[in-house]
Amino acid sequence: MTSSNPLPAPVVTVIGGGPAGLMAAEVLAQGGVHVDLYDAMPSVGRKFLMAGKGGMNITHAEPFDIFLTRYGARRDQIEPLLRVFPPDALREWIHGLGIDTFVGTSNRVFPTDMKAAPLLRAWLHRLRESGVHFHVRHRWCGWDEQGAMRFATPDGEHTVNADAAVLALGGGNWPQLGSNGAWVPLLAQRDISIAPLRPANCGFDVAWSPYFREHFVGEPLKSIAATVGEVRKQGECVITEHGVEGGLIYAHSAALREETERVGHATLHLDLLPDWSPQRVQIEVSHPRGSRSLSSHLQSRLGLKGVKANLLREVLSAAQMHDPALLARAIKDLPLRLVAARPLSEAISTAGGVAFEALDEKLMLKKIPGVFCAGEMLDWEAPTGGYLLSACYASGFAAGNGVLKWLHPSVVPVS
Ligand SMILES: Cc1cc2nc3c(=O)[nH]c(=O)nc-3n(C[C@H](O)[C@H](O)[C@H](O)COP(=O)(O)OP(=O)(O)OC[C@H]3O[C@@H](n4cnc5c(N)ncnc54)[C@H](O)[C@@H]3O)c2cc1C
Repeated sequence: MTSSNPLPAPVVTVIGGGPAGLMAAEVLAQGGVHVDLYDAMPSVGRKFLMAGKGGMNITHAEPFDIFLTRYGARRDQIEPLLRVFPPDALREWIHGLGIDTFVGTSNRVFPTDMKAAPLLRAWLHRLRESGVHFHVRHRWCGWDEQGAMRFATPDGEHTVNADAAVLALGGGNWPQLGSNGAWVPLLAQRDISIAPLRPANCGFDVAWSPYFREHFVGEPLKSIAATVGEVRKQGECVITEHGVEGGLIYAHSAALREETERVGHATLHLDLLPDWSPQRVQIEVSHPRGSRSLSSHLQSRLGLKGVKANLLREVLSAAQMHDPALLARAIKDLPLRLVAARPLSEAISTAGGVAFEALDEKLMLKKIPGVFCAGEMLDWEAPTGGYLLSACYASGFAAGNGVLKWLHPSVVPVS
């Protein structure tokens, strides 16, 4: 009688315990391989938890063809990933963790309690049950001369050999949560093409006067519209010490960043009364004000006071403020000059990263066979609204399946 030992399961290293890496680990564990997940921080999912602080917007329920347009210039690269793991599949996956979701205003999708922690807890429990081994406080710092992966740990350097690896190291924003972009030179040394990491969904600097800064920092500019080029969006933002920040600014941030980088400044055209027609504004501004001050005139006829009224004074000269036609036009189209994007470390997300041209369709680095990439470290960007997490999940799912396919070309992908 002959005995045959089954071949040991392949060992796959996943580096980065954000949503992309965790999703890759899940697919790999389901695919029957041994998964070791490494993260530099003392615990995984720190940025994911931070994303849950202000209400975790996990995906978006708008029609899929509109959803895809949110990836702009990278739509062609992200679309195949999302077709395999679309927003509906993401919602079902969340429900599978025992967490309900709901569609909020403007079609954004949230977990019912708006939080990330219960979701992450349930997910990590399931991953451990399925055999994923977690190694925290392990910072990947490249390869040694034999091709083993090097990790800096509290006990000194460890090296690890594996049959394949998934890098899901995140972008360079909010480095205090773990993803600090230190992987860029490590991959660049291996001749991997990487677009420079840049702030996305970020605030912008404005040269506020000392008076305006002193009196209006922290004030929200509500119910306004902002136009950049042909694109007009309604929403709100907040005055910061350095300039402006918030959803309405993030929505335009890619175009504004490009413009500030190209010519050193960009103009955001604000409509302070988006529900009023220009004619109505013109009539109310021109209404005789008798002995009343311009401030009380703007407040009583147009409801403009506080930060909105003072923003007009900040941008316009005294002469312009007293020219009714010009003032009326400015209320509907106030040109706010932005001088620079805020630094990457403060941004909500990162643009730039590993070029898709460096990857094959399985998300494997063409120049380093067996090494796959996923998540925000890839060269794409999207606005807030759940599009970031959706693409991180979808690319983690694709990378996990890509590894399985590479290890066993006849394998049926995990679905
Ligand atoms: C304040 C805030 C709010 C957000 N809100 C939302 C939202 O509501 N909806 C949405 O869709 N998106 C949101 N995002 C964006 C979202 O959190 C990210 O897009 C997402 O977490 C990126 O996932 P990732 O797995 O690619 O990277 P990350 O989540 O950044 O994870 C990368 C992991 O890799 C680890 N790592 C990095 N380098 C190394 C190394 N050398 N060795 C070992 N480990 C390493 C890090 O410690 C980290 O755990 C928000 C982001 C921020 C900052």
